Amino acid sequence: MTHAPEPTRPANGSSPRLDALNWPEVRELLTHDPIVVVPVGATEQHGRHLPLSVDRVLCTAVAERAARAATGRGRPTVVAPTIAVGYSPHHMAFPGSLTLRAATFTAVATDMATSLSEHGFHRILLLNGHGGNANLLRSAAQSLRFEHDVRVSVASYWDFALDRIASWRTSELGGINHACEMETSLMAALHPESVRMDAAEDVLPPRSRFASGDLTETGPVTRAGSFEELTPTGAIGRPTLADPERGRALLDAIVEEVTEYLIEWT
Ligand SMILES: [Zn+2]
Repeated sequence: MTHAPEPTRPANGSSPRLDALNWPEVRELLTHDPIVVVPVGATEQHGRHLPLSVDRVLCTAVAERAARAATGRGRPTVVAPTIAVGYSPHHMAFPGSLTLRAATFTAVATDMATSLSEHGFHRILLLNGHGGNANLLRSAAQSLRFEHDVRVSVASYWDFALDRIASWRTSELGGINHACEMETSLMAALHPESVRMDAAEDVLPPRSRFASGDLTETGPVTRAGSFEELTPTGAIGRPTLADPERGRALLDAIVEEVTEYLIEWT
């Protein structure tokens, strides 16, 4: 039996997805010391007006766009399969929400990173799309570094653009939290068919100078609470202010910042 010659497709081929490559292509890609981005989403309720997929869709879109841009600028970057279920116990009162237990979620993120590291990916970005995952990912990153000798970066996509969000938003503090002005605008830009603006309703979090209730400004106190205690719709924030044009502009700004990080990362 004869063997076909190995393909020599460049690492910046049309898809930024790791799983679109065959293994000889991955082996070739690894000779370029690529970055791999692991989008970390969730499957959970996003109010009456957005689908359960929001967090998975948004972190994956940011990852793929940034990977394309970074690869185009000479920093080969691929996107691993998205972790599509996260840590969402606080959304379980709403039908359809799924959650992993904290230990399971941490194990999934850890095993993804150690698998990638075993193949020779030296830079792994866990790009988070769900607030409830953030602390567990940060603590997983510590264990990966000090117990498994795997170096990862962890960030939630919106944190890359906090300055831009501050000037972009039209809502007061509390208007950006969950299924809010930001997430609804981003979904309206990417998948307008999935957004039901007629069902969007504003619900603001309780006001406190110790806990703003805004995704972009956490304040000194974090409260662990279930969403059904805070909102009848499942959303918190001002989704009625969402706008697809502004969503596109914000998406571009976030992708720009993530791309800059990928390029700067040594
Ligand atoms: Zn979300």
